[in-house]
Amino acid sequence: MWMMLRVIPIMWRAVRPSKVADMPAVVNTFWLRKGYEGLTFFGQILAPTQELADRFNAGFNELKNHEMIHLRQAQSCGDSWFRFYLLYIWYWLKNRIGLLKLHSRVGSYCVKNAAYLLNPFEMEAYARMYDLDYLKGPATEWRRYAKMTLKQRLSLYHQGNVPLTPL
Ligand SMILES: [Zn+2]
Repeated sequence: MWMMLRVIPIMWRAVRPSKVADMPAVVNTFWLRKGYEGLTFFGQILAPTQELADRFNAGFNELKNHEMIHLRQAQSCGDSWFRFYLLYIWYWLKNRIGLLKLHSRVGSYCVKNAAYLLNPFEMEAYARMYDLDYLKGPATEWRRYAKMTLKQRLSLYHQGNVPLTPL
């Protein structure tokens, strides 16, 4: 119960994404399912275990980079956390519905957590997290993923989610 409510002060004290210089990681076992490593939450990172939180806080690595890409994406959504999360949920819902339709037509695609992994925001974050210099530029590739059809994103995913070539 306490874990569930712990996110309220984080939301309450949240500042605009552009005002966030760094995101500290905190443990939250309620909102983070096992198997997920971190969740960007209004300027903080929720981690499922202390060990993972420590890894986030230890320095800049690919895990931290992934979450910082989400911060930069939120800045590109009119510098608004709410717009970012609304869009995030919208893309997830669209994926869920699209995947259900695909499943019924052509059978299972066998991508675990597909609605999550094919979210344009996640596709950019996963494709670019190993490039530790990525955030020297803006994180706006999600817009290009968002313009693709679900099938196009699915085939990109099967090819290994190669980073998009810069325009
Ligand atoms: Zn992510």
